[in-house]
Amino acid sequence: MAGNKVTISGYIKYHCKYWMRDECPYWVWVNGAPCAYCLADGKDVREIKESG
Ligand SMILES: [Zn+2]
Repeated sequence: MAGNKVTISGYIKYHCKYWMRDECPYWVWVNGAPCAYCLADGKDVREIKESG
């Protein structure tokens, strides 16, 4: 998908894993990874519980 990646000062950044779902505005270094804010909010933990 276009627009999901930016290059800032030579560093490639990706939208947070929850950009689409929760409109998270933050960026991460790894494609498809959650940002520190979503991790702190426990979104990843909640998702695992829901699918399990
Ligand atoms: Zn996030």
